[in-house]
Amino acid sequence: MNKINLLIATTNEGKVREIKKLLRGLGLHLESLKSYPHFGKYQETGRTFAENSEGKSLYYSQRYPGLVLAEDSGLEVEALGGKPGVYSARFSGVKANDKKNINKLLNLMTKVPVEKRKARFVCVATLTKGGKVIKSYRGTVSGMISLSPEGDNGFGYDPVFYYPPLKKTFARLKPSEKNRVSHRARAFRKIREFLKHYLKHQANKKARPGKSSDLHKG
Ligand code: IMP
Repeated sequence: MNKINLLIATTNEGKVREIKKLLRGLGLHLESLKSYPHFGKYQETGRTFAENSEGKSLYYSQRYPGLVLAEDSGLEVEALGGKPGVYSARFSGVKANDKKNINKLLNLMTKVPVEKRKARFVCVATLTKGGKVIKSYRGTVSGMISLSPEGDNGFGYDPVFYYPPLKKTFARLKPSEKNRVSHRARAFRKIREFLKHYLKHQANKKARPGKSSDLHKG
């Protein structure tokens, strides 16, 4: 049987690794933007994770002949009024990288006491096909910003995101542990459930052409 193609619309290797694991076993042929450099880069101009996630997914679905899954994610810190939010990747400016972003965050929070260092990661994942949104799901995970970076795993703000239930920063969790509790895992588990039904439905449609579907609604 021919597998259905799904493009994971990101060039962030950390995200690709996590998402591939989260979608394993569905019988999909998973690809990432690494194989499609000529698609160009979607400019994130949205003010919310949902706007960016949808915009990105639609942009690539107009270029890719299959399912497209895009996500927008970031960190919201309570003491900073929700910053860096949708600007998480570019927090320290045009030449931002993970280390500079973390330094900027910790510098801004030097005077914030432990009990006021609440933060959460947010992820909105959007599935599209042929320029149309099929489904969008949101996942969040709450934690605290640590006083200094700890751990080498993961990416982005993982070294300063302390997760109280496991008493470790995300960067000290094994990839499999992070993939059970993260914002991305929570959004993608819902996508995964939806895809299971969607793929079954597509297979039935192929076997019995002519029957219409309402799986896109809801
Ligand atoms: P974007 O979704 O590519 O715009 O960027 C999201 C940014 O948010 C990343 O570059 C990281 O800085 C941060 N971020 C998102 N998810 C995670 C995560 O799981 N761990 C650490 N940082 C994250």
